[in-house]
Amino acid sequence: MNNPQYRGRFAPSPTGPLHFGSLVTALASFLEARSQGGQWLIRVEDLDPLREPPEATGQILASLDAHGLFPDEPIRFQSRRHDAYQTAINQLLEQGDAYRCPCSRKDLQANNGHHPHHCRNGGAAAGDRPFAIRFALRDEDCHWQDLLLGPQYQTVRAELDDPVILRKEGFYAYQLAVVVDDIDQNVTDVVRGSDLLDMTAQQQQIYRALGSRPPRWLHIPVILNEEGQKLSKQTHAPALDDNAPGKNLFEALVALGQNPPQTLAKAPVETLLDWGQANWHRGAIT
Ligand code: GLU
Repeated sequence: MNNPQYRGRFAPSPTGPLHFGSLVTALASFLEARSQGGQWLIRVEDLDPLREPPEATGQILASLDAHGLFPDEPIRFQSRRHDAYQTAINQLLEQGDAYRCPCSRKDLQANNGHHPHHCRNGGAAAGDRPFAIRFALRDEDCHWQDLLLGPQYQTVRAELDDPVILRKEGFYAYQLAVVVDDIDQNVTDVVRGSDLLDMTAQQQQIYRALGSRPPRWLHIPVILNEEGQKLSKQTHAPALDDNAPGKNLFEALVALGQNPPQTLAKAPVETLLDWGQANWHRGAIT
């Protein structure tokens, strides 16, 4: 399969160093792109300084480097893209696809997810209260096709599910920034963990509101620890050992169901990536 127009990306949020689960995602997106002769990008989604230890970005990039996962273009940092997110928000506000909302989570819970002051209709003149900006979803039974999981069906409920796109604290939210940058970087294919599957129908509406066609999606299973929890900072996933990149890549290929031969168990990084690219079989992902 050759598709030189293919543009994929790995988009980590730097909340901690790379762990095995994020390596598996990075490797899957890299091999999908490379096996099709496409481009592969890295984008650091550093939108929330309160959750991001300052050293995490450097650690993640050093780890990707150690594992031979080099991008085809300069790395993008979302912390340098605030103007683009603000422009998108202004556009959405003007179109009536976004609105100011001072409601707290408690207000919404007490009102079954509806906005007590009818924020969507401008009912809550923001006044002095701090406000967030939310995207105004449309009611929709959304059907779409995941390249690994097949047909997907998601219900989107207007008002009840409206995602925050600019937080009260002034931080731009993932749900907006990911779409703005995937559009701006001409990303054609998103490979990511299936913990983000539920976000997809909402993101499709944001794509359309910004006048763009959504990309293709491929959601890979998340890697679990022995207790059956997703590997993450919250579940104390250990940082990858950058001194054993070959071993890590071999295990990541195994985790992706690619069945690398035992003779590669001690192979260098380049050999493993070459083998992975030549033998990549998306349907074998388990
Ligand atoms: N930054 C997101 C995360 O680390 C992933 C974004 C995406 O791939 O859509 O969970």
